[in-house]
Amino acid sequence: MRYISTRGDATPRRFCEILLEGLAPDGGLYMPQRYPQVDAATLSTWRGLPYHELAFEILSLYIDDIPADDLRALCAKTYTAEVFGSEDITPLRELEDGVYLEGLSNGPTLAFKDMAMQLLGNLFEYELGRRGEVLNILGATSGDTGSAAEYAMRGKQGVRVFMTSPDGRMSPFQQAQMFSLQDANIHNIAIAGVFDDCQDIVKAVSNDLAFKRQYRIGTVNSINWARLLAQVVYYFKGWFEATGPQGGEVSFTVPSGNFGNVCAGHVARMMGLPIRRLVVATNENDVLDEFFRTGVYRVRGAADTHETSSPSMDISKASNFERFVFDLVGRDGARTRSLFADEVGRTGRFDLSGDPAFADAAAKFGFASGRSTHADRLATIRDTDRRFAVLVDTHTADGLKVAREHREPGVPMVVLETALPIKFAATIVEALGREPDRPAKFEGIEQLPRRVVRMPADVEAVKRYIAEHCA
Ligand SMILES: *Cc1c(COP(=O)(O)O)cnc(C)c1O
Repeated sequence: MRYISTRGDATPRRFCEILLEGLAPDGGLYMPQRYPQVDAATLSTWRGLPYHELAFEILSLYIDDIPADDLRALCAKTYTAEVFGSEDITPLRELEDGVYLEGLSNGPTLAFKDMAMQLLGNLFEYELGRRGEVLNILGATSGDTGSAAEYAMRGKQGVRVFMTSPDGRMSPFQQAQMFSLQDANIHNIAIAGVFDDCQDIVKAVSNDLAFKRQYRIGTVNSINWARLLAQVVYYFKGWFEATGPQGGEVSFTVPSGNFGNVCAGHVARMMGLPIRRLVVATNENDVLDEFFRTGVYRVRGAADTHETSSPSMDISKASNFERFVFDLVGRDGARTRSLFADEVGRTGRFDLSGDPAFADAAAKFGFASGRSTHADRLATIRDTDRRFAVLVDTHTADGLKVAREHREPGVPMVVLETALPIKFAATIVEALGREPDRPAKFEGIEQLPRRVVRMPADVEAVKRYIAEHCA
């Protein structure tokens, strides 16, 4: 398997060449040259495999520059009951008739980002070890991404993490999760400012190519292909569990902001997994719902980006969306470049409503969408608690609300659970008047000693800190 860019650079690259990269050199995103096809016979041989073996089967279709035994061992080491809470890894449970929740948030940080990040940690350590190199990951987080990255990279050989976050602006639980890590290779940097200040610092440091090269700066953002690939596995797992040996179609509803999670569903469907619909559920930041309804993709300005009670989907643009549009326009790299680099770059939007390809988004690629608001979220959390005694987090609630609008008789609807309620306790209290349960291992984390440095929103100060801690 070789990888190419969505913007026309067709230089074939291997998996381990792009593993540690962000964007392709032409500014595009990496995509596999083709989607390996999985037929019904193969699916039936995979039914019943433990999660880590299923992961190996799927990953090995995309990774041919890691020896099979090594890849198998990496998967086995990643997807364990100790790390993910059960042998199932992603347990499926039925709510009302035909509507299921697939639990993706039982990893170390209680959000679905662990599903990919835990594998990435092991892949990074393996590949850096093979090359005899080190990598310093610099990131910005408003919550889930930073903690998932830190818990994946803690104690790993050859990797350090420098994670900036807006001082005092993450939830108390999220702060405690990150700042209580005592590992020497994890550095928490609390910036006096907002999330955008942190992101600007990361961009400025990454744009200083001499510094970047000297200190071997890398990232783990959501456009990394390996993260997406790891997420493909749980669509297969969910499909197996929601169907019997005869198979049949399943629809998925995916709470989405950056289009990362649901893009993995698109990949699974392109591989031949019988997915009927991929329903994208947004919150008030409805960039994606607007596109799937109207054909217009419109990036929001800061004033138009809402702070919501499902904050991990508060985005102004959907950074993985370009991958889907590349497929939608027939893998035309020049066209994708013109849409994202020229039109979005110049006007902040593009309009495919008059393009025959837009009809394919639903008809050929199975996409549908919906939107959920704070009031919907509260109502869904209450209703799900009352009827099923199941507590869902705010993002999952957005998914459930939209899933119910897209149910079809005879087609199981699987909603991806993207976080546990304890991460967003304030909204649970608002909905139910009580605190959500806290998993035992997080009892009292707010009282643990903290390892964090505070800094002004100053690029030079952050660079100095990195330089001093890279010796
Ligand atoms: C990151 C995140 C999302 C959004 O995922 P995308 O891949 O950006 O669409 C949804 N819910 C939770 C809890 C998250 O952490």
